Amino acid sequence: MKQLSLPPQGAADVFLSCVNAVPDQVTRANYIANHGHIVQSISAYSAASASKSWYGLPRAAWGQADAIVVGSLSKGNLTDLYTSYMVPSTMPARVTYDEIMVAANGKCPFCGGIGLVSTLDHYLPKSAFPLYSVLPANLVPCCKDCNTGKSGTFGLQRAQQPLHPYLDDPKFFNERWVHAHVENTNPIGLQFICAPPQTWQPVERERLLSHFTDYNLAYRYGVQAGAELAKVIDSRKGSLKSLSPASFQAYLAESAMSPGFDVNGWNRTMYYALANTPWFYNADFEGPV
Ligand SMILES: [Zn+2]
Repeated sequence: MKQLSLPPQGAADVFLSCVNAVPDQVTRANYIANHGHIVQSISAYSAASASKSWYGLPRAAWGQADAIVVGSLSKGNLTDLYTSYMVPSTMPARVTYDEIMVAANGKCPFCGGIGLVSTLDHYLPKSAFPLYSVLPANLVPCCKDCNTGKSGTFGLQRAQQPLHPYLDDPKFFNERWVHAHVENTNPIGLQFICAPPQTWQPVERERLLSHFTDYNLAYRYGVQAGAELAKVIDSRKGSLKSLSPASFQAYLAESAMSPGFDVNGWNRTMYYALANTPWFYNADFEGPV
């Protein structure tokens, strides 16, 4: 899980950039007439961000593209801003789309960079929250697996909200809450678990567990770590063979602190667990472990 800086683009400016590309004059005038409603919705998103209560923002009915969401703007009008006037490469607002994508440096913030960024995700899905279709703060660079693994719905309770890469509490990104157990099986197993500090509020801990589960991180971390663990064991049998157990433990602990590893990333979590598992760093791997 990786925290990203809030996109600097002005929300009202991005709205107008999309609207100004609408070719039909009557449709365009209808958007402009509702500018005040859009400004209000931007303020509501900011207020929800301050209290980490995005789940409480007003929702549109399922389907019903013609249903009015605000003023004289329908759900279809609002989602069109994104699909027709922001995403296509010929649209002026595509510049904003690309700038937001590039700012992630390729790493998906939801899974901590297991996947490469390939799309923009609406933190609040545009099907339920069409007012935020082109709001920069609601557009998060995302990998394919995190995007497709997430349903189009958004939890109805505070505890069900995934982490917001721009606007959530920095401690979720800077402090440890993912741990791993090393299992003495053949082959050796790694079990990743969500274990936030007990001092954090119950609702915060529930949110982290919800994020961990919704993005299938125990499984996805396990897949990544399995391949890396096999390399570590091969190295122990080869180039690291002469190290004492204490030196091998120090090597594992040092590897955990490699620059570029996220504090809750699979790689740091794995090395940290290996360095804290005596039977692992004491094993010679010559026979059954
Ligand atoms: Zn991802």
